[in-house]
Amino acid sequence: MDKIHSDGLLRVLRRIDSPQTTSIQLAGQTCLNFSSNDYLGLANDPRLKQAAKQAIDQFGAGSGASRLICGSLTPHADLESALRRFKQCEAALTFSSGYAAAVGTICALLDKEDVIIVDRLVHASIIDAARLCGAKMRVFDHNDLGSLKELLTWARGRISPTPGRTPQTLVVTESVFSMDGDVAPLAGIVELKEQFGAWLMVDEAHGTGVFGSQRRGAVEEAGISGRVEIQMGTLGKALGSAGGFICGSQVLVDYLVNRARSFIFSTAPVPAASAAASAAIQIVQSEEGVQLATQLWRLVERLTTRLREDGWNLGPTRSPIIPIILGDESTAVSTANSLRERGIFIPAIRYPSVARGQARLRLTLSASHTDQDLDHLIDALIELRGLNSHSQQ
Ligand SMILES: *Cc1c(COP(=O)(O)O)cnc(C)c1O
Repeated sequence: MDKIHSDGLLRVLRRIDSPQTTSIQLAGQTCLNFSSNDYLGLANDPRLKQAAKQAIDQFGAGSGASRLICGSLTPHADLESALRRFKQCEAALTFSSGYAAAVGTICALLDKEDVIIVDRLVHASIIDAARLCGAKMRVFDHNDLGSLKELLTWARGRISPTPGRTPQTLVVTESVFSMDGDVAPLAGIVELKEQFGAWLMVDEAHGTGVFGSQRRGAVEEAGISGRVEIQMGTLGKALGSAGGFICGSQVLVDYLVNRARSFIFSTAPVPAASAAASAAIQIVQSEEGVQLATQLWRLVERLTTRLREDGWNLGPTRSPIIPIILGDESTAVSTANSLRERGIFIPAIRYPSVARGQARLRLTLSASHTDQDLDHLIDALIELRGLNSHSQQ
């Protein structure tokens, strides 16, 4: 703790005394919230809340046991059917979190004779899974197909330590990167993994509900839906609830039910969370889903255009995750504090969530934001720049 303190990296919890909307109660102050992953504004939607309440009335507050004992309830089965249809996959399996889905799936599929190749910026859940499964981990440069190809070539040349067993290679990437908001070159990655006979797992935590004409995710947008062996996602972001999921073949899901330890040895998700997620999927697939996504993308376009015109460094984002990259850790913290004094909440993100010297404000948009919210933010940033006159790139 002393070291965390002296490095200026102490993190503490902030208590929010309101539901998750674009306006939150933070330490007695009402703040305009630009920090949630609730991209479609569904977390506090009356229909999700109603679905959760109904599930509680019908199935109780708790699930009672793991799915394989007696905790596999109707809301879980309904959610998995909804996910299967939504993602257009043969089968789906839900986990208590996206983190658990990553760890359970990767550890079930790979062992020390295999190879896992991940993008440099993949989420901590993937890195932890890769370490835990014991496979040889290699890291390719962020969104760099040349670097991925080199590693696939190396992996193909490996000889199995166990005669007769062919080492498997799994490539893992996020579709939309959580801290930079940029998108993986999925079509190119699919070409490569097919050329080398590897498997591909795509973490659609930030793509689901937002990308693609049917809002299925960036995999849909890239037109590669049938070619990704494992799609992973969370119910906790655009889908407004909590939990994780894997979509893929029936044999994959059957195998995970038998081998994914974070699935087997953990109490089933509560009925309320699964029912709320099913309600969210229904909304996302409806005409209203089209409108929510259209509204979100309009706001993204408007804000990124304006902030870039004003000279802020947003990096290569093309999603509702809009980093304002400030570089210096203390500048990021002081800017976040100054915005907070003006009633705007955007967290400063520092090492270890991003590399040192890449400190930023991580701004996220929701379909529930209004044009006035954006104007308020744009004005506050201009005013702060005048005060600090720290130069941007
Ligand atoms: C949030 C997130 C996860 C974890 O999902 P949870 O359901 O919150 O555990 C995994 N991958 C990425 C990229 C994420 O942003």
